[in-house]
Amino acid sequence: MIDWLTGHGKLARFSNYFARFWFGSGASDPSTGYSVRMICLTENQTAAIRSHGEREFPYECCGVILGDLVSDLHDETRIVRELRPLENSQAEDRERRYLVSPEQMFALMHQERDTGLKILGFYHSHPDHPALPSVVDRELAFPWYVYIIVSVISGRAAKMTAWQLDEDRESFLSEQIEIG
Ligand SMILES: [Zn+2]
Repeated sequence: MIDWLTGHGKLARFSNYFARFWFGSGASDPSTGYSVRMICLTENQTAAIRSHGEREFPYECCGVILGDLVSDLHDETRIVRELRPLENSQAEDRERRYLVSPEQMFALMHQERDTGLKILGFYHSHPDHPALPSVVDRELAFPWYVYIIVSVISGRAAKMTAWQLDEDRESFLSEQIEIG
């Protein structure tokens, strides 16, 4: 288990393994061409992500986003029901990286079954960096999750963005954030 955590390349390969064998066909498929992708958060939820980012500054915070996925032929909407802060398992370089450990993922998947709430994705902060996905973010991402990034500049939360990895794993597509 530990060996998988020693390098991002290895973890990315583990992620692929994880994807095929543990999530199977239940995962949503971005290749179906949804024209609008949106994630809906309340003001309180937005504030919770921002304050988590500020609390962990200058380190990266991370957490899981739970809720419902509503999709029809054209649109895909994620409705956030609950945010759960996670411990950043990255041992070093926590200013630049976050890591959700395989153990944490297994625990979350069990909870997903128990609570009926879907894992919609993950949020994390970028201390003193823009709210744009990094190369490491791309390597670690799963194509069917949404990734919210909040930029925290000098300890104050700034811009917040949402992203979903393209099926080809080459690029992130921006996702609309609806607050209300
Ligand atoms: Zn990042």
